[in-house]
Amino acid sequence: MNMNDLIVKKRDGEKLTSDEIHEFVKKYTAGEIPDYQASALLMAIYFQHMDKEETFALTDAMRFSGDTVDLSGINGIKVDKHSTGGVGDKTTLIAGPLVAACRVPVAKMSGRGLGFTGGTVDKMESVPGMKTTLEGDDFLKQVNDIGIAVISQTAHITPADKKLYALRDVTGTVENLSLISSSIMSKKLASGSDAIVLDVKCGEGAFMKTQEDARGLGHTMCEIGNAAGKRTIAVITDMNQPLGCAVGNSLEVIEAIETLKGNGPEDITEISTRLAGMMIYLGGRVKTAEEGYIMAQQALYGGAGLKKLRDMIERQGGNPEVIDDYSLFPEAEIKAELIADKGGYVQSINAEAIGIASQHTGAGRATKEDKIDLSAGIYLHKKTGDKVGKGDVLATFYGNDRKKVDAALKEAASAFVITRDKVSKPKLIKEMLGL
Ligand code: URA
Repeated sequence: MNMNDLIVKKRDGEKLTSDEIHEFVKKYTAGEIPDYQASALLMAIYFQHMDKEETFALTDAMRFSGDTVDLSGINGIKVDKHSTGGVGDKTTLIAGPLVAACRVPVAKMSGRGLGFTGGTVDKMESVPGMKTTLEGDDFLKQVNDIGIAVISQTAHITPADKKLYALRDVTGTVENLSLISSSIMSKKLASGSDAIVLDVKCGEGAFMKTQEDARGLGHTMCEIGNAAGKRTIAVITDMNQPLGCAVGNSLEVIEAIETLKGNGPEDITEISTRLAGMMIYLGGRVKTAEEGYIMAQQALYGGAGLKKLRDMIERQGGNPEVIDDYSLFPEAEIKAELIADKGGYVQSINAEAIGIASQHTGAGRATKEDKIDLSAGIYLHKKTGDKVGKGDVLATFYGNDRKKVDAALKEAASAFVITRDKVSKPKLIKEMLGL
């Protein structure tokens, strides 16, 4: 295979063969293809797209590019959950403990932040001492003992996706249906669960801006999962404004804890219990996703979910006292406020702008080598539909570098649109696929 020919072939809109895709993935993973050629191919795919067969081949090549996990040592049906990435999405930290509390095992591998969206692993690392890597048997043992473990995808699983994911993040090639679905599904299939729940985000703050694109992504991923023999269902959810109020690592973990205490924002509570309900359903504990939803609510309001989070933090070496004392989280030195320059109702909050602004505070990475500031981020005091008075604080910005916080404030200055007319709250759950 000549890499230049492959780039030209895709650039000119031709279909790549399964062999070509497998060889590209194998050689890139082995370091035999330089980043500049892989970037060019990704950009050609971005513009020319891949069809179903190419997407399946790419998923397969990445799935088997490294080790695959065997979860057969864990009792019960293992259900995984994945979100296509959004702003303020801390649902794994809420739904995971709720599902485990309902006796469906959660053996989850999560990712780091990508572009303007955050990642569960970065968030978990804001808990002092918390480990996000557990080797083989320790992972299985923890799930069998306490029902839940959330760890970072190891270096040996889908190394091809790991390299390509990082490269896409810094080459403007994230938002492509085939690249996103193969990236997500290769990890999910290699991670060894029996069934998968997908949360496909849709709107300004998501990779998929329209419901039609989100549906396409959801369908493609369900097709890939079901074809591989794993029952896969999807829910399309709104990402036209950030999820919840907190954006940024430690801020989001605090919000997840508050949600498990029953004090969470309405949207994050609703979506987390819905996702947990779908997982409980696929885990065989109830007959419908609706019954699962009710069971998840009971685990939330009865405190069983919070107890599971505490157990998980402790078992993974973190300080469980963070649950009762938020001052134990990394704290930012600088706090700045975004003030409303007029009164009315919040018509919209540009989630992408908030995500980028949060990245500017230091909460996200601009290049793959960047170190993130776990205490940085943004807290929204107003959400879409809320009434605002002139001079009210719309959001607080946190960070440790004045220049970064100022850049974030500038980025977010026009993210809030305020109108005089009353605005209704957006519909959160848009559509379910595969139920
Ligand atoms: N999440 C992933 O795991 N991969 C993508 O490509 C986008 C979001």
